[in-house]
Amino acid sequence: MTGRRVIRVQKDVLAKNEEKAAGNRSRFSAASVSVLNFVSSPGAGKTSLLVKTIDGLRGRARIGVIEGDQETDNDARRIAATGALVTQINTASACHLDASMVDKALDEMSLDGLDMLFIENVGNLVCPASYDLGEDMKVVVMSVTEGDDKPVKYPKMFRACSVMVISKIDLLPHVDFSVARAIENARLTNPDIEVFELSAKTGEGLESWRDYLMSRAR
Ligand code: MG
Repeated sequence: MTGRRVIRVQKDVLAKNEEKAAGNRSRFSAASVSVLNFVSSPGAGKTSLLVKTIDGLRGRARIGVIEGDQETDNDARRIAATGALVTQINTASACHLDASMVDKALDEMSLDGLDMLFIENVGNLVCPASYDLGEDMKVVVMSVTEGDDKPVKYPKMFRACSVMVISKIDLLPHVDFSVARAIENARLTNPDIEVFELSAKTGEGLESWRDYLMSRAR
């Protein structure tokens, strides 16, 4: 296969994804559901953040979750324990969720009565940046155990995201991570990115994060 053919195949794949994403977007909008697509490296704390967010919004918002992982339903079981509606997608060898996987998950999960849908993508800062799932926004979670230069190393992802959550801030005394530098790097890449600093473990910063989500709900 020549290089040019490979490029064309990728373009076709992305064009087909855009079509499916548009379909998902109309389903979300018809159901008046706000949809957030959570991306990060593996281990940044997406699932813990979702669990604590759902717990704290109990009684204020009805939330559904689509979980994406290559294998296992470990995260879906953690979400199910909160009482939230959850559907697991196993992507097998794929490094990201695509819009048609979400479309299929939506066939199995009713959006009726939901205010928000959280999609937890496969842990990976590269591939999920290219795949629109029909969401309202992407949220990137970066933990303080990672390098504070992540935004400049993976600029495509940080440009695709409306929000950056800096997680695990309870660990700041033990690591060399600079929150100021991380924010500076993120804004170099995406000047409009909104930033939240929080710890799902201690609860610090969670209230303003939840208030933000409520203000963005349809
Ligand atoms: Mg997870």
